[in-house]
Amino acid sequence: MTAHPFDTQGLDHCPFMPVFAPPQVMFVRGRGTELWDSDGKRYLDFLCGLAVTSLGHANPAVADALCRQAGTLLHVSNFFANPVAAEAAIKVNALLAEVTGHEGQVFFCNSGAEANEAALKLARKFGGRGRHEVVSAYGSFHGRTLATLAATGQPTKHEPFQPMPEGFRHVALNDIAALDAAIDTTVAAVLLETVQGEGGVVVADPDYLRAVRALCDERGLLLIIDEVQTGFARTGQWFGFQHSGVVPDVVTMAKAMGNGFPVGATWAKREVAALFHPGDHGSTYSGTAIATAAVSAVIDEMRRIDAPRLAREKGEVLVARLTTLPGVAKVRGRGLLLAAELAPGIDAKAVYTLLLERGLVTNAVTPTALRLAPPLTVTLDEIDEAVDIIANVLEEQTR
Ligand code: PLP
Repeated sequence: MTAHPFDTQGLDHCPFMPVFAPPQVMFVRGRGTELWDSDGKRYLDFLCGLAVTSLGHANPAVADALCRQAGTLLHVSNFFANPVAAEAAIKVNALLAEVTGHEGQVFFCNSGAEANEAALKLARKFGGRGRHEVVSAYGSFHGRTLATLAATGQPTKHEPFQPMPEGFRHVALNDIAALDAAIDTTVAAVLLETVQGEGGVVVADPDYLRAVRALCDERGLLLIIDEVQTGFARTGQWFGFQHSGVVPDVVTMAKAMGNGFPVGATWAKREVAALFHPGDHGSTYSGTAIATAAVSAVIDEMRRIDAPRLAREKGEVLVARLTTLPGVAKVRGRGLLLAAELAPGIDAKAVYTLLLERGLVTNAVTPTALRLAPPLTVTLDEIDEAVDIIANVLEEQTR
């Protein structure tokens, strides 16, 4: 059995900083929806490393692209061009142009937080000094860097790190009057998720998003949509904003974009992207050949399999099966980004632990709800197997 750093040495001697709770399982291998732990036990992954491995573990197209690129060229810095990044940028821009009707430009980075950092800096260039505030929603999650943490609408996460960088204010989601009241001459941008993933899989109302777009147009504000969790087909459309027909000025993405290889991106309409000049922003790892090889492979493969359609179809099946379970009060979300709100009195953390013991990976996204985000390639048999495991555990909880 593979040594388990948490079990064998205890947390005091753990090689990792104690920012995460000690994990219960060590995974050593995956294929598609399946994972195997260090004891050889098989699991179904209905979380995808938090909506990341949307094409499944060890996806052959992505693995091939990464292996070929690793043997050719990993990185050259932004002093020089590489053809892999150029190709990936063209593919990202083409995808965004298709769904927004606007030409734009892309900045590659390494994570969702960095994608949002670039968007926040664009907002500051857009508004200028004195008009640099960004309004986001309570319950949102935008990252762990100081600025993206400040944008995150979860005051308890701010507390240990006060004072927060200034320039951020929060309003209730789906309340257009509250947003209207929060906008004054110091506000440059509105930053929203179309489904608050970390906030509990809370869907932004399409009418609200359309009203937000109208308000931004009326007041001359940028609309930044954070698609880090919802992007790349997870909700049944390429991007979550498509469900409302709203066109953002800036879109941030990461997670599924590399299917597990760390990469993120900020896309902006061309006139907004033009606010950046050489030296305004950057990253040593912006557009490395290896990361952008993953991006190209993900986009090609998602187009080939029509990933948005898969998310819609499989999502419908999963919702239909879950809603029949007596222990499930309600299912919310879109596509394959779902939360099952459990019947009153059932503790989501306890259910999560039992599911894990029985070989199903999920997440207790709130004390009363389980988040389910299987790969978009999940099979109907795997959905049946997972729902049977959930049904058994919930039945024991309600007995
Ligand atoms: N934005 C959203 C909507 C997210 O869900 C997350 C992570 O869960 C982030 C930003 C931060 O992304 P990362 O952890 O890659 O920095």
